[in-house]
Amino acid sequence: MTRGSRDIEEGTELGLVGLTPDGVIESWSGGAERLTGYSREEAIGQHFSMFYTAEDRRIGQPEYYLRKARVEKVEVHSGWRIRKDGSQFWGDIRITALYAKSGTLIGYAKVMRDLTESRRNDAAQATFYSTFMHDFRLPVAAIKGFTELVHGAEPKDQDHFLDRVDDNADRMLVMAEDLVEHARDDSDQLTIMLEAIDLADLARHVAAGPVADTARIKVTSDRVVVMAETSSLHRVIANVLTNALKYSDPGSLISLTTDETETEGTLRVTDRGRGIDPDDLETVFLEFQRGRLARSDGGTGLGLASARELVQRLGGTMGIESEVGVGTTVVITLPKGDPDVAG
Ligand code: ADP
Repeated sequence: MTRGSRDIEEGTELGLVGLTPDGVIESWSGGAERLTGYSREEAIGQHFSMFYTAEDRRIGQPEYYLRKARVEKVEVHSGWRIRKDGSQFWGDIRITALYAKSGTLIGYAKVMRDLTESRRNDAAQATFYSTFMHDFRLPVAAIKGFTELVHGAEPKDQDHFLDRVDDNADRMLVMAEDLVEHARDDSDQLTIMLEAIDLADLARHVAAGPVADTARIKVTSDRVVVMAETSSLHRVIANVLTNALKYSDPGSLISLTTDETETEGTLRVTDRGRGIDPDDLETVFLEFQRGRLARSDGGTGLGLASARELVQRLGGTMGIESEVGVGTTVVITLPKGDPDVAG
């Protein structure tokens, strides 16, 4: 937690707030001040909806929670709330309705806890597992496909198909190891061991590997050494290649090229496929977002989101350029590495 000079464990600080029956703040604890940034003087007399987002206020959430507390005596919920400095915190909130002996409502006691960090960890965790499942299906589908081919194949082709099965099994092993590592890791970040990698070499390896229809792919890359992590970058390139193959005609070519500046190395994956509608270019990197030209194909809309997240974690960027009916280029840029160290 990085707010102010506070050094307390998340969730241990309680903000206690007293409200009138109408939701006006009438008492304010030191904890509430530390959680929200508002002093006693600033908070007392204000309506408690001041901590809600504009959207939550618009749909009437503050009133809804008070009404619920009135009916059920205690209302427990969580949501994003706003501090004085405009930043948001994930509040774990309990509102208790207070009644006089006569049965008249005299106000509410509200207790808030800040659970922002664990909320972020949960969200990161959920993203990781959903992207993992998306990626895990690729080698499984490939193994099933190549196994079927082995059965009817000429003996001379069988070795080739079995090698592909083997490659895919290796991929799954690497992913399973990633998953174990992730589970072992206490934080929401996978531990990343950066190493110097030749982009062209890795691109060639992926293009010759399990997800690729090798005959359609042309790697015309010069050696460009970047700092990255092999298994993450392998997943990214495999993802992008899978899309390029999926969203273009079976006979069309896909090219992989590298480029470099003084500080960065770039890999471009270009297909001559159907392209992406200009209105979708902004959203294809978001989770669960699929382009309108891809509606009739199967997919989850997670591939590009997970790929970009991995690239960003490696300190790089990922962009997409596309023209409908002409093709799509995905551009992956990473910080340069030491060429003398790369394998
Ligand atoms: P999915 O392929 O499962 O839909 P992705 O996150 O990998 O999910 O891609 C998101 C969307 O981006 C796709 O639905 C598609 O519309 C578009 N897209 C990605 N790559 C390409 C490509 N090479 N050519 C055309 N469209 C693409």
